[in-house]
Amino acid sequence: MLIKVNDRVEIIAGEYRSRPAKGADKVVQGKVLKVIPSTGKVVVEGVNKMYKHVKPSQRNPQGGRLIREAPIQMSNVMYVCNACGQRSRLGVKQLDSGVKVRFCKKCNADQGEIAPARKPAS
Ligand SMILES: [Zn+2]
Repeated sequence: MLIKVNDRVEIIAGEYRSRPAKGADKVVQGKVLKVIPSTGKVVVEGVNKMYKHVKPSQRNPQGGRLIREAPIQMSNVMYVCNACGQRSRLGVKQLDSGVKVRFCKKCNADQGEIAPARKPAS
């Protein structure tokens, strides 16, 4: 699971791209709002907007319909590199310090840590 919250992704497949919901803008790229590892899905800002019907509650005494992004399959999105701006695959490498980092396979730019260095056993 290499995609993280706040990553920029491009929608490369799926219905949300070819047939956006009525009234919703066609969104091709967006920011990852949530990653759901158990289902292999991600929620991308502005993508796959759905009406969510809510009962009246304390926070929302009227109830009604909210527009919310529904999760989409992770295989339908592709990472967008924050250095070269191209959609690319991510690689993982381990630095000498033991920290694991993601990198762009197109330009090799560092794309942030995924795991801290393991503490040496002592
Ligand atoms: Zn890149």
